[in-house]
Formats: sequence, C-alpha cells, structure tokens
Amino acid sequence: MATTTGSLDPEAMLDTAPCGYLAFADDGTVRYANTTICRMLGRSREDVVGKHVERIMTVGTKIFYQTHLFPLLKMSGHADEIFLLLAAASGDEVAVLLSAARQERGGDILNECVFMPVRERRKFEEALLQAKAEAERTAKELRAANRLLEEQAVELEMSQEQLSEQAAALEEQQQDLVMMNQELVKSSAELARLTEVANEANRAKSAFLAAMSHELRTPLNAIGGYAQLLEMGVHGPVTEGQVDALHKVTRSQRHLLRLINEILNLARIESGTLNYRMQMHPLNDVVLAVIPMVEPQLHQREQRLEVSVPAGLEVYADREKLEQIILNLLGNSVKFTPERGEIRLSAAPASGSGGLVEIQISDTGIGIPADRLQAIFEPFIQVEVTPSARSEGTGLGLSISRDLARGMGGDLVAHSELGVGSTFVLTLRSSENSKPVS
Ligand code: ADP
Repeated sequence: MATTTGSLDPEAMLDTAPCGYLAFADDGTVRYANTTICRMLGRSREDVVGKHVERIMTVGTKIFYQTHLFPLLKMSGHADEIFLLLAAASGDEVAVLLSAARQERGGDILNECVFMPVRERRKFEEALLQAKAEAERTAKELRAANRLLEEQAVELEMSQEQLSEQAAALEEQQQDLVMMNQELVKSSAELARLTEVANEANRAKSAFLAAMSHELRTPLNAIGGYAQLLEMGVHGPVTEGQVDALHKVTRSQRHLLRLINEILNLARIESGTLNYRMQMHPLNDVVLAVIPMVEPQLHQREQRLEVSVPAGLEVYADREKLEQIILNLLGNSVKFTPERGEIRLSAAPASGSGGLVEIQISDTGIGIPADRLQAIFEPFIQVEVTPSARSEGTGLGLSISRDLARGMGGDLVAHSELGVGSTFVLTLRSSENSKPVS
C-alpha cells in the first residue's frame, strides 16, 4: 500500500521516474505511459496512450512480443530483464531492458512494464562485436601472413641452396684462377728468360757483325791497296792483260766492301739500335747535297736529271738517313735507266692527308715486273733483267731505305711498268706533330 509523505506526490514521481513506465491491457491497449517513456521514444502521450502497445515496437520486437513475450507474461505473470528494441517516432531503434508484471488494478488486468535504456550496453556490445570482427580479420590476415612467411621460408631455403651451389662453383673458378695465375707467373718467368736469351743472342750477333766487318774490311782494304800498287807498276811493269785482271780485282773488292757495309747497316736497323736525330730540314738543301754524288754517273751515261722541289718545303727527318735513301733511289734510277734516259725528282705536300710530304723519283728505265714490286724491298732480292745491272748491286739498298723511311714515321713504295720506267714514292712527315704514315 503506497503512502504519501509530506508534499511527495507518488503519481508525479512515477511520471518522471528515471525509467520508462507503461501499462497495457490484455487487448494491447496502452492505458498509461509516463513522461520518461514518451521522451525516450520522442512521442507525445497521445501517440502512445490509447494506442496498441505494438505501435512502439520494431518489427522484430512485435514478432517476439506476439510469440514469446505476451504468452510468457500471461503464463508466468512476469518477465524479467528482456532486451528489446522499441521504435522511436523518428524511426530510430531504442534499446531497452524490459521488466514486466501482470497486476490487477481496480478489477482490470494490466501488464505493467518498466523500461531501462541500455544505450551504453549496446555501444559496448557493438564495440565488442567490432572488436571481434577486427580480431577475426586480424587472425585471418595473420594466417595469410603466416602462409606467406612459410612460402618465403621455402623460397629462402631454395635460394640458400642455390647460393651454396654458386659459392661452390665460384670457389672452383677461384681455384682455377689461382692455378692459371701460377701458370702465368711461370710463363712470364719463362718469357723473361727467353727474352734475356734473345737479347744475349742479339748482342752476340752485333758483336759478331762488328768483328766480322772489321776482320773482312781490313784484308779487303789491303787487297784494294796492293792491287792499285801493282797496277801503278810499283812492283815492276804489268802487261795489258794484267791491268785488266787488276781492274776486276779492285771492282770485286769495292763490291765486297759495299756489301759488308750494307749488311752491317741492315743489322743495326733490325736490332733497333739505330738512333734517329729527327729535325726539320728544307728539302731543297738535302736534294742539292745528294745530286753531286750521282753527277759523275749521270754524266757518264748522258742522262738528264730534272729536279722540282718547291722552295720552303720542309720535312721532319734524320738528315743523314734521308740523304742515304735519296742517294740509293737516284743511284738505282741511274743504274737501271739506259744511256740518255731521263730521271726526275719532284716533291710536294701529299694530297688528302695532312702533314705529309711526298718525294717522287721516277725514271724512264727498264722497269720492274708487277709481281716483283713487293719483293724488291726484301733483302738480297734483285730482278734479273740484265745480268750487268744485277752484278753491280747488293740487293740491300731498297730494304734498308724502306726500313729507314719507316723508322722516321714515313714509308717507301714503288710503281712501275716494265720497259717504260719506275717511280719510287718516299713519304715523310712535314712536322713533328704530323701523324706517322702507319
Ligand atoms: P741493288 O740495287 O743493290 O740491287 P736494291 O735493293 O736497291 O738493290 O734494289 C733491288 C732490286 O730492285 C734491284 O736489283 C733491281 O732489280 C730493282 N730496282 C731497284 N730500283 C730500280 C729501278 N729504278 N728500275 C728498275 N729496277 C729497279
């Protein structure tokens, strides 16, 4: 039995109690709803009181109410702490905990319900559900990551195997390299030894040539000298036949002497011991110094020499060796050109390539067969065109001349037509900065 104490009004207290309160008859009509439940649902009292209680329920709650809640209430007279979703006027769902009891009020049966909002609990439930979903997702990801790791571990194992194989192969190669290196060291030691042997042999060859030339030149000079004395009648009168024989002796003696000198010359070039004193020289000067040396033969054979060297044209050469080459080429032209023949010496900057000078010596002589044009630059090669021409030479002049030309960064080549004449082209550098011919 409720009691009133002082100014307390139980009805007003129920109306604004901190929980929703609603009573409905068995036919579902709401008989009473306090302000708290109306506020919780955002509904006016008219919207609730006098209406069916299902009006404030969501569809799911309605089904639950009809199938479980109401039968339970009728059967047991109460229902405790049941979680329900109510429908607010806005359409939002309002989560509540319901406790209900059937009471008899003034001869009427009323189902009285108390609603506690469970917003926090729902929030926690949702958070829990989210956390659970998150955890499941993370677990799934973890499982996937784990699978990946396992796969990578397998791959790593495989690569490790490959690496070990490669390392073994590398080690083998390294061993091979070490062996090859040892071989190389051995070979280079052998090479050094052979080079030393070759150098020794070369030194011996030079010493031998020097000794031989001395040993041969001394008696040859003596032969020449005594032959001349005999010819002059110092040792008594000589007959015409004896004079003729003595002439042959001295001619052979001069030939032998020249041969020895040229062999010595070639040996020096080939051993690489020849020094070149390279300088700029006016070409005219060089040519003018050589011509007097061939003039007696030119005169004797009534040959004409035409010289055409532009004034101021200079060459970068060793003067002595250049004179030797020009003398040899002019000497050959004189030798292999018939009497009253023509010889021409001309020079000009080489066309096309910069920094080179070409000196041409041509004649109207016997010419050289095309298939011998290369061979004549080999030592001791002579073209047997006329026996007399052959006997006068040593076959070394052109070989020496080409070697000297190349030693100065130039070259020497021949063009010829048999029976018409020959042209020898000597190419030289026009300055220290000119590129060598090859
Ligand atoms: P050598 O003149 O002492 O025989 P070279 O080496 O100077 O030796 O010449 C080799 C050969 O080349 C000569 O024997 C000759 O057959 C040929 N030769 C050289 N120059 C001429 C030339 N101007 N005309 C024809 N033949 C030549």
